[in-house]
Amino acid sequence: MLKSFLPLLFMCFNLLIVNAQQDEHLKGECFTDQLLKSLMDKNPEIRKEYQEYKKQYQVKPENYSSFRRDVITIPVVVHVIHSGEAVGSGSNISMTKVLEQIEILNDDFGFRNTDRQHIPDHFINDAGPTNIQFCLITKMPNGDPHNGVNRIKYNNIPDVSYIEDVIKPATSWNPIKFLNIWVVQIPTPGILGYSYLPIPSILNSSKDGVVIDTDKFGNNGSYIKGRTATHEVGHYLGLQHPWGEIESCSSDDGIADTPNCAGPYFGCPNGPQYSCGTIDMSMNFMDYVDDPCMYMFSKGQGIKMNQILADERFPLSSGAGYICDLNLTSNQNIGLEAVPEIYPNPTTGQINIKNSEVFENQVVVFELHDLSGKKVFEIKQLIKDDEEDININLSSFNSGTYIMRMTSEDAHFTKKLILITGN
Ligand SMILES: [Zn+2]
Repeated sequence: MLKSFLPLLFMCFNLLIVNAQQDEHLKGECFTDQLLKSLMDKNPEIRKEYQEYKKQYQVKPENYSSFRRDVITIPVVVHVIHSGEAVGSGSNISMTKVLEQIEILNDDFGFRNTDRQHIPDHFINDAGPTNIQFCLITKMPNGDPHNGVNRIKYNNIPDVSYIEDVIKPATSWNPIKFLNIWVVQIPTPGILGYSYLPIPSILNSSKDGVVIDTDKFGNNGSYIKGRTATHEVGHYLGLQHPWGEIESCSSDDGIADTPNCAGPYFGCPNGPQYSCGTIDMSMNFMDYVDDPCMYMFSKGQGIKMNQILADERFPLSSGAGYICDLNLTSNQNIGLEAVPEIYPNPTTGQINIKNSEVFENQVVVFELHDLSGKKVFEIKQLIKDDEEDININLSSFNSGTYIMRMTSEDAHFTKKLILITGN
């Protein structure tokens, strides 16, 4: 009895502290849930899609041990919405600020954020890299150079509907190929940013992407460390808040290693926080604590985002090798011991894929995609554990750059492949 009463005491105590400290902290919320709810209220079809999404993408304990993945790069285009200031002043933020934010995303998603040392012992084994990274594009799909930043002037943005119904349709780049980030002075007080879950009605629409309030973009002071973007990109790649769609123990995020909690934490919680019978992961990027007090994605969240990138958002990463300069980002295979290797590359047609233990005794699907994301070749093969390298002949294809995708039940990898076939 006493045991179950204690967490409640802790909770009340912390709520009091939070109220007392609110003014000094970055008090604000993300608008993602409210937007989704209003869409679902207007359109029952979207509610159905959301229920289906929740059912389809869950991360259960058995998903953890077998999942392997290489680093996936997401091409980013940033739309700076300003009110006419010179570049680098006011809402017309500098290129340095944009690059700073991309670096923060790469540190947080790559588990290279220096404050990860503050993760409590209780959760340290649940934290890890997502193996997802971001690059500001250096080229448009037609090959023309581009610095990845669009600067567009809009005077007097009255509300979020204006961003959704006017600015986004006029400025969005193909959302299948790019992560669109709009940096805009959000007129509604208390909204730090928002994005949408990857459900069918959102994908390939101008709504798809991430909106961040100008003042919360990049590292801007003691409570603003650029983590509004980390949080919103988390939603964009399929994550929900740890408490699920309603602030109660009756809903959760469908991920086994993020303990269910009764609602968000604000400020900077001191010591363990309890609700729904467990210690809460209040330092998770998907909670509402201040930027300096969030340090981690869980491994399960990484798996869920990779499920989305292998499925709903697959075309997003397939073109990155062409429109990004990958030398500008740190493309390291973090924590991966067995990434299959393709050789020779470039090739005149015959390729060998080094057998990898992650494929042993599994059916592997090898797919070749061109840079528009179109699949041009597919072969399925059962890989035995004593198998030598896998050989595939691609000499009938035209010369060019392709993406080879390799998928088994437990793993998926994508590799850039250059064919010089004489065709
Ligand atoms: Zn959120």
